[in-house]
Amino acid sequence: MSEALELNRDENAASWRDRPQTQAGKIEIANISKSYGAFKALDDVSLTIEPGTVTVILGPSGSGKSTLLRTINHLERVDKGFIQIDGDYVGYRRRGDKLYELKEKAILKQRIQVGYVFQNFNLFPHMTVLDNIIEAPIVHGLLKRREAIERAYELLDTVGLREKAHAWPRQLSGGQQQRIAIARALALNPKVMLFDEPTSALDPELVGEVLEVINRLARSGVTLVVVTHEIGFARQVADRVVFMVDGKIVESGSAERVLNRPVHQRTRRFLEKVL
Ligand code: ADP
Repeated sequence: MSEALELNRDENAASWRDRPQTQAGKIEIANISKSYGAFKALDDVSLTIEPGTVTVILGPSGSGKSTLLRTINHLERVDKGFIQIDGDYVGYRRRGDKLYELKEKAILKQRIQVGYVFQNFNLFPHMTVLDNIIEAPIVHGLLKRREAIERAYELLDTVGLREKAHAWPRQLSGGQQQRIAIARALALNPKVMLFDEPTSALDPELVGEVLEVINRLARSGVTLVVVTHEIGFARQVADRVVFMVDGKIVESGSAERVLNRPVHQRTRRFLEKVL
């Protein structure tokens, strides 16, 4: 599809004008909407995420959290609005007042700066742990094999799994696989890391080790956006909590404020159920 999107110049939207950048990984989501047939999965969502911060997205099932996350690296195309990372349009380039979708190759290149961690780990089953981690930086020409291996061992130390370098994914627990998936995403040195319910496929006793790794990434300079139902994690790690219902952000603020003194009735009801 290469239909041009009209630029939406809503004054309340996140600013699309250039701004001086002091730190990398700023995400500006401006009035995005996304429908599946007649169903509106995202309805005029705007959100600015500051570089290096941790944002947790909460909300009932089906509220659009995953869809929002997927739009941030253009795994999902928006119908309206736009997203910028450090001033670059995600999935598009601008000509005049119109946005034109980038070609697949350019989209893939753009995605290098945005790591994505899936609910089900998605490691390559036919590759060892080490090969899983070094593959992308080599394929994208970012690192030579020797450098990629060196970097992979550093990342394995970060996630506490150096001794598993030569293991196969199937030999690892779910928690270990997810920690390797995080290391793999970090191997491309992304500015932004997106986590889509990273612990929801795990047995309860394995959740902590994955959250601990994400916690360690917080304040490392990478911007983290995490969809999760782990309220304790949100309380402990998030700078900001965003609460979604029916494709809209109904409430957003500091973790302390949203979790302790929610103003929206839907947030209150949700928290009463999960806490
Ligand atoms: P959440 O992550 O909050 O559970 P999602 O973003 O996954 O919500 O989904 C929001 C809504 O959009 C759901 O009702 C879901 O069924 C619908 N949806 C998501 N992806 C698709 C798709 N590819 N096709 C049709 N409907 C979809």
